[in-house]
Amino acid sequence: MASPQFIFLFLDGVGLAEDCSSNPFISADATPFLNQVLGGPLLSGLWVDTPKILFQPIDARLGVPGLPQSATGQTALYTGCNAPAFLGRHLTAFANGSLRSLINASGMFKQALALGGSVTHTNFYPPAYFEAIAQRRARYSVGTLLALTAGVPFRMSKNYAQGEAIYWDITGERLKDRGVEVPAVTPQEAGQRLASLGTQHHLALFECYLPDYAGHHQDMAQALQVIALVDALIESVVAHLSSQVTLIVSSDHGNIEDLSSKSHTLNPVPLLVIGPEATAFKNVHAITDITPKIVELLSVESFA
Ligand SMILES: [Zn+2]
Repeated sequence: MASPQFIFLFLDGVGLAEDCSSNPFISADATPFLNQVLGGPLLSGLWVDTPKILFQPIDARLGVPGLPQSATGQTALYTGCNAPAFLGRHLTAFANGSLRSLINASGMFKQALALGGSVTHTNFYPPAYFEAIAQRRARYSVGTLLALTAGVPFRMSKNYAQGEAIYWDITGERLKDRGVEVPAVTPQEAGQRLASLGTQHHLALFECYLPDYAGHHQDMAQALQVIALVDALIESVVAHLSSQVTLIVSSDHGNIEDLSSKSHTLNPVPLLVIGPEATAFKNVHAITDITPKIVELLSVESFA
């Protein structure tokens, strides 16, 4: 593949805050890899702009009053549409009918496919997930709708067994809750899986919800464990990243960076881009700018 390729690592609920005791990112040991690569902890004010590495805070509030939430934030990330402005409010958790219309019309998978690119959702979907959906015990996430509306197949048990899928908790330890008993995957192995899937597609998405859960729990020990796991995952993806693949890491809203409250925050979220296209993301200032940028970079290249 001669065209640019992207891995989008979505982290739910990671914002950038000041150096204060309720912020797990202030501990230098919490994210050893990112600290080394970025030259400091993930705090507001951190700004890195080198040819292969970009780090900057981006806006998740999108001009709409109230605390940013997951359904509108993820829709904004994956479509480029100002979903909270469209609805008139920030919407929590799952995508309702009108957000679905935005995802269906402007989802990044559909847009990349229309350009002739190949896309994949790298998350593992265990059978119990679809049973829960069928029994109306669960509703589709934005990322699930993104794949569904684009006709992108889900990675199922066979893929997971073959090392070609990652569970949303990185290690798969929470698969027990879904009735799946499998050995845990190390973050190094998960990173290798993600890098490998990224090499095979123009756009590969992985969604990790751990930071948002940790933030809502307001538990510093849990938060430190989660951000260390994410740091190890990113380290492994970067170690296994093909030279033509660019890794993009971002979030839908703040949460884990301020454990003094159990709700989301108004803070900006990080945009970390590592790889050949890093510099191109310098003019990404809000979570709505990421999908248009990916589509722009994919569309200037012809797919071999
Ligand atoms: Zn949340």
